[in-house]
Amino acid sequence: ERAVANLNDLIRNIPDFPIPGIQFKDITTLISNGPAFAQVVDTLAERYAPLNIDAVVGIESRGFIFSAPLAYRLGVGLVPVRKHGKLPAATHRVEYELEYGSNKLEIHRDAFPTGARVVVIDDLLATGGTVAAACELVQMAGGRVEEVAFIIELEFLKGRDKLTRYPVYSMLQY
Ligand code: 5GP
Repeated sequence: ERAVANLNDLIRNIPDFPIPGIQFKDITTLISNGPAFAQVVDTLAERYAPLNIDAVVGIESRGFIFSAPLAYRLGVGLVPVRKHGKLPAATHRVEYELEYGSNKLEIHRDAFPTGARVVVIDDLLATGGTVAAACELVQMAGGRVEEVAFIIELEFLKGRDKLTRYPVYSMLQY
């Protein structure tokens, strides 16, 4: 056991960001703490090491921060899900609704072999729209979502209700 401050204490609340009325959970204060960052990655690695995962999918942008070291620890590849127009080769695309307007995410069509066992990583689960779209992309590319994982879950937004088809794991709940 490594001695680390309570991870909760390292999440910073920023009122009225990015718009008035929203309280943003800032993870930069967690990832700038070396032992805390290591503890988060180690916890994920211990959870997924026994699951025979073939690839880690990271969601742009903050999902990349945790998915990259997790993939390294598991000894598997990292597959990015990115905002539209960023991936250079042929992609699958999913459009999903936000509170105002919509967003598009993409994955490379040849990201993994059919049947690949995948864990999908993002920093935070809010309404669940982002990760639901990412999971749809994984399936379009032939992968199987074994679990979706977050550092933070905002339980009051009930994102899990959009993710009933997959196991959901979160480290910290608010
Ligand atoms: P959802 O699609 O679940 O409503 O929103 C989750 C996405 O928005 C994630 O990609 C996450 O990075 C971002 N997000 C929304 N609210 C917050 C927040 O308070 N803090 C952080 N770090 N990310 C957020």
